[in-house]
Amino acid sequence: MPPVPVDVAWEVAEDDKMKQVVRRGVVRAVPEWAHSVHADVGGLRPDRWYWYRFNVGSSASPIGRTRTLPDLGAPSNRLRLAFASCSHFESGFFTAYRHLASEDVDLVFHLGDYIYESAGDPEAGRPRVHNSAEITTLEDYRNRYAQYRTDPDLQAAHAARPWWVTWDDHEVDNNYANDISENDDPRDAFLLRRAAAYQAYYEHMPLRRAQIPKGPALRLYRDFSYGSLASFFILDTRQYRSNQPCGDSSTNPPCGEEKDPNATMMGAAQERWLYAAMGASPSKWNVIPQQVMVARVDQRPGPEVRISFDQWSGYDAPRTRLLSFLGTRKPANPVVLTGDIHSNWVNDLKVDFEDSKSPIVATEFVGTSITSGGDGTDKPANADAVMAENPFVKFRNGQRGYVTCEVTPGTMRADYHVVEYVTRPGAPKITRAKFVVEDGKPGAQKTS
Ligand code: FE
Ligand code: CA
Repeated sequence: MPPVPVDVAWEVAEDDKMKQVVRRGVVRAVPEWAHSVHADVGGLRPDRWYWYRFNVGSSASPIGRTRTLPDLGAPSNRLRLAFASCSHFESGFFTAYRHLASEDVDLVFHLGDYIYESAGDPEAGRPRVHNSAEITTLEDYRNRYAQYRTDPDLQAAHAARPWWVTWDDHEVDNNYANDISENDDPRDAFLLRRAAAYQAYYEHMPLRRAQIPKGPALRLYRDFSYGSLASFFILDTRQYRSNQPCGDSSTNPPCGEEKDPNATMMGAAQERWLYAAMGASPSKWNVIPQQVMVARVDQRPGPEVRISFDQWSGYDAPRTRLLSFLGTRKPANPVVLTGDIHSNWVNDLKVDFEDSKSPIVATEFVGTSITSGGDGTDKPANADAVMAENPFVKFRNGQRGYVTCEVTPGTMRADYHVVEYVTRPGAPKITRAKFVVEDGKPGAQKTS
């Protein structure tokens, strides 16, 4: 784009041919914000589909479809949603996004790793190649989003319905924690990089102007309600967390640092916000879309212990505070939606995972990657051993895909959809497993 401002007209219609336009406006798209447009559209009717497009001069964008929420507290009997994460461009084709586009769901959560910051590797023999070396500048991040957005499957998934997004680490830098980079760069230099990454994220993602970043800060945690049926509390477990303990290496045994009582996963302000908002929620279901696995999974059979220090298992005190809150304050039907680890899991969540008598306080659905990890396998080599060692794990699968959920007053159902390959295009969708959580009964039951 030339470095000049461009006036972009937007219109919202009640029909897919854009005949009944009900709202329109003009936004000046400026080069300082990558010519991105964030139109906050008011005055729409609740709980219905709308269609929209953008116009510049004689050029019109494709038509997108979106949906308004029901009125706050309005009775609502059914919500369908999907969640996805980890779309590494080099690892394969976005076939799962293409299947996601044709699902009958009202909204999509993306739980992070929408892009990856890593260098393109033409020697790796992967199906596609990143467009540059590891990205660190604003221009780099913008060009990486632009590359991902050339993908027609991703375009189709966005055009079909609204997305609620949150990030994990790869939108900035692998396994960063607050102001600490993967390679322990000087703090000031890393915060400049983080500011560039956050700005490009804001520019390219469907975020409202309320989320406009200020330097290296962007408030991404937020909540919304779907009528009286469900409330969603979207977390940011990257921007405010304390450093990973024990050298952040999962080959290390726990060193004691993982029990640091001063550790934080959300930061104090977000943690207060979550407990206040969720504690006051009148909704039938209370769902936490977030990044990294909450369940404390021990990857090593027998008395030895191996846990991931980048997940909640590396943050013992904050995890126990979260689960104790769910167990004692008892917001109705808490369910956690998780991404990050490129595999499918269903976990019962307990305050004390090492005590088989500790009651189940919530359910965790962990969704696999869109592509990260390549073709994958139905049953990872250690799956049986890990499930035997961690009896609160109900399901384990290592293929690519996404999850759809149906929420009704009586149940929340999760359907795990997978594709058998991503290194070639065109894999058919397979619905690999279905689980259900019943109202008032935390923990998942397999239905097929
Ligand atoms: Fe990932
Ligand atoms: Ca063990």
